[in-house]
Amino acid sequence: MIKFLDLKAINNSFEPELSQAIQKVVSSGWYLLGEELQQFEKEYADFSGAKHCIGVANGLDALRLILKGYIEMGFMKEGDEIIVPANTYIASILAITDNRLVPVLVEPDINTYNIDSFFIEEKITERTKAIMVVHLYGQISMHVEIEKLALKYNLKLIEDSAQAQGAEYNGTDGTIKKSGNIGDAAGHSFYPAKNLGALGDAGAVTTNDDKLAEVVRTIANYGSKLKYQNEYAGVNSRLDEIQAAALRIKLRRLDIDNQHRRMVAQYYTEHIKNDQLTLPVVYGCNLPVGQCMSHVWHLYVVRHPNRERLQKNLEQKGIQTLIHYPLPPHKQKAYKQWNHLSFPVTETLHQQVLSLPISPLLNQADMEQVTNALNYFNEI
Ligand SMILES: *Cc1c(COP(=O)(O)O)cnc(C)c1O
Repeated sequence: MIKFLDLKAINNSFEPELSQAIQKVVSSGWYLLGEELQQFEKEYADFSGAKHCIGVANGLDALRLILKGYIEMGFMKEGDEIIVPANTYIASILAITDNRLVPVLVEPDINTYNIDSFFIEEKITERTKAIMVVHLYGQISMHVEIEKLALKYNLKLIEDSAQAQGAEYNGTDGTIKKSGNIGDAAGHSFYPAKNLGALGDAGAVTTNDDKLAEVVRTIANYGSKLKYQNEYAGVNSRLDEIQAAALRIKLRRLDIDNQHRRMVAQYYTEHIKNDQLTLPVVYGCNLPVGQCMSHVWHLYVVRHPNRERLQKNLEQKGIQTLIHYPLPPHKQKAYKQWNHLSFPVTETLHQQVLSLPISPLLNQADMEQVTNALNYFNEI
């Protein structure tokens, strides 16, 4: 049986260092806002290339706190609009509505599944204050067109980098930037199944903006810099010492793990031969997909017109797959007010996508088994 993601085996592969690092925290008697967090923040800032990293409780909080920070700084206020892809995990949208800001949904590009930059400008109004790009499935979603719009309309560029730790963007200025260092601020998730996964909930904000970094850090700690003095009506959103210690161990191998994911993606793309399947593509990269640095393959997502039958067939052959995601945010009960809206590209994707097993530990036999199963699946 091939699991979609064998977290137990993955975390076991970090032993004994992982357990030792945790034991060290347990024995230390210090569990929040300590040495491990400080070191992780420094190491993750170095990794992403951003000047600041603030550890927070989870990825949703990272995004919420960025927006809350901009509100406190006076860049945006209740009722202002944030451009965001319609095709995303609901957390991107929740971060916006939670701050009483208004998400303005934009269709994705049918090939990359990321926001279609050419449909953004028509959605910009007087109230638009930011564009939130989502590096979906691990692929960088930034585009020169988006950078131009941000400059032209003085918008903040926010990255939802929950799925793309380590992915690289070839900036218009010729430099290579890692996810988290591309826009004005980025939210990262270290949910256990993400490319860099903690042993529970964890997240971070990265930014080069000194003021935003300070404000986010303060809000995340009850709005307080000095104990019992509260500058903002803050929240409690902290990355604890045990998670920070675990993340430090796992961060050391992130580039290697991402490279393994690229190798798996390369194998799938080369060997899957089935006319009914649409395989993923990497935007703007003419190299074999496994050499494209703008994708870290958090997920390898194929499309099939009869996804349910395909999924069942794979399951019978002992291959576990998942659907990311079955229902788009605008069709959720949580957002009844948008249920009538139509985003045909988004809706088609949600009906057809299927995520194949991919992980830092997937081996040759696994890849062959998945590929064979797909190549022999034929539906008339
Ligand atoms: C996982 C994820 C989040 C939220 O992260 P949590 O740590 O689970 O709160 C946000 N956006 C996207 C695209 C995600 O995949």
